[in-house]
Amino acid sequence: MASNTEGTRESVDFLRTRITRDVESGKNGGRVQTRFPPEPNGYLHIGHAKSICLNFGLAEEYGGVCSLRFDDTNPAAEEVEYVEAIQEDIRWLGFDWQERLFFASGYFEALYDFAVQLIERGKAYVCDLSLEETRAYRGTVTEAGKNSPHRERSVEENKDLFARMRAGEFPDGSRTLRAKIDMASPNMNLRDPVLYRISRVPHHRTGTEWCIYPLYDFAHGLSDAIEGVTHSICTLEFENHRALYDWFLENVDAPSHPQQIEFNRLNVSFTITSKRKLLRLVQEGHVDGWDDPRMPTLRGIRRRGYTSSAVRSFCHEVGVTKVPGTIDMVVLENTLREELNRTAERRMAVLRPLKVVITNWPEDKVDELEAVNNPGDEAAGTRRVPFTRELWIERDDFMEEAPRKYFRLAPGREVRLRYAYYVTCTEVVKDATGTITEVHCTYDPESRGGDSPDGRKVKGTIHWVSAQHALEAEVRLYDHLFATPDPGDVAGGQDFLANLNPASLEILSGCRLEPSLAETAPGAVLQFERLGYFCADPVTSKPGAPRFHRTVALRDSWAKIAKQLAQD
Ligand code: ATP
Ligand code: MG
Repeated sequence: MASNTEGTRESVDFLRTRITRDVESGKNGGRVQTRFPPEPNGYLHIGHAKSICLNFGLAEEYGGVCSLRFDDTNPAAEEVEYVEAIQEDIRWLGFDWQERLFFASGYFEALYDFAVQLIERGKAYVCDLSLEETRAYRGTVTEAGKNSPHRERSVEENKDLFARMRAGEFPDGSRTLRAKIDMASPNMNLRDPVLYRISRVPHHRTGTEWCIYPLYDFAHGLSDAIEGVTHSICTLEFENHRALYDWFLENVDAPSHPQQIEFNRLNVSFTITSKRKLLRLVQEGHVDGWDDPRMPTLRGIRRRGYTSSAVRSFCHEVGVTKVPGTIDMVVLENTLREELNRTAERRMAVLRPLKVVITNWPEDKVDELEAVNNPGDEAAGTRRVPFTRELWIERDDFMEEAPRKYFRLAPGREVRLRYAYYVTCTEVVKDATGTITEVHCTYDPESRGGDSPDGRKVKGTIHWVSAQHALEAEVRLYDHLFATPDPGDVAGGQDFLANLNPASLEILSGCRLEPSLAETAPGAVLQFERLGYFCADPVTSKPGAPRFHRTVALRDSWAKIAKQLAQD
């Protein structure tokens, strides 16, 4: 029994309850073996992360093993590029399949032999119906199907035809091998499902060795059995396939009998978890590739600045049930915020700059002020930030005609410049069009460090950057890739692309960053005070010239709106 899970939520979810029972009853000799079985037809996404954490996590918890098996039975969509990327992404997530890297294509010979066994037992036949005919014969959910006219072929004829299918004697699509089960079964999956089809598409591993390929249902369970998998965990849409999964295992001499168990797939609001749809986003240029930071792919969220530990905690937190549903994107973001709040160093950056001139500060004087790197982590230490006569602040930290409750800078009002001084606005400078170009202030020399000189209080603290020392840079802000919470759910005939958020990327140029940010390592994530967590893009950053994008805002924007509404 997995002693480390006792008393935690794991001990109560249905999956762990079940596995614990199997282990205790000595099923499979008490062994636990799982697998993660991706089809290499795209990059992994956040949904896959749940399956990876579950399969590798369970193996760890129960002292078992988990293998990585590529379900590569459909060469038309599969590529080596994906095989490699998937391995890299699983490693990034923090899991290791050790020597257990398998391919369904590695079992083609064994699977062929199982198919021959079915034929010999009168449980499979070669069928000459076309794809359309096969479909028409299948019936509907309310109507039984019709037997194929080739269903009663003799074992000898079936064996001969199947061998000749393999030998390449027949054109693509002209024949299939089908299981002989029940064309009237209420479970459509049991209506003589196709096991093999003829297709002369070269395979990324077996080349042109095979011109017949097994279908998923047939290949999957038997691959599990070959490997000695004990618990074959898959998503709920396979629930109706379980009867077929078991039928194959019962009707061949399978080396073991794994148990298929279904759980709820992970859906996250405002995004999609379907490789096919993600592929379209990439191919049609709606994003900058699989690793676009707006993508829900593991590459995308890694580039965005997510850590693998945050993704793992998220997968843990969403839990595993039998109930389909969608997790709010906020849950994912909050998991990351929680971690970054503890780990990310603070810096100051001004995204939409407005010039401030401190009129009573000498022209060339530079004051090096001490700034705390992380208020929650003393070990992170402090740094020096230069303060000069000319500074940048955020445009929206100044308002010419400010309401009473506006606690930032306004004519005649005093604010604290973070780590620096109290300043009071004395003058507003405008250009010919009336646009504010500068704000003049005086500072209080007694307030150095941002401390009150005489007990007088200021309500607002704003961030700033020395104009003389600022690093000028472009910064990208990201919003949800889709504008609707359930973008995959489109009305008849409509395309999910109609739900794309046209404002998912905002590029700000001329941002002014605190000079220490020049040395940020690509991939590092920092908090820009009051603005959010920002990552130095690992792809486009250059030494000395990081290019930042926002990983996540400080607070969920909906929470902010709700707070504003409550204040009004
Ligand atoms: P997609 O629809 O994105 O192509 P898939 O299920 O076809 O997903 P596979 O490569 O077959 O992709 O998935 C590998 C494993 O990951 C399977 O066991 C599958 O059940 C699991 N998986 C895929 N998507 C999710 C998800 N959203 N939540 C949980 N598990 C998932
Ligand atoms: Mg699949």
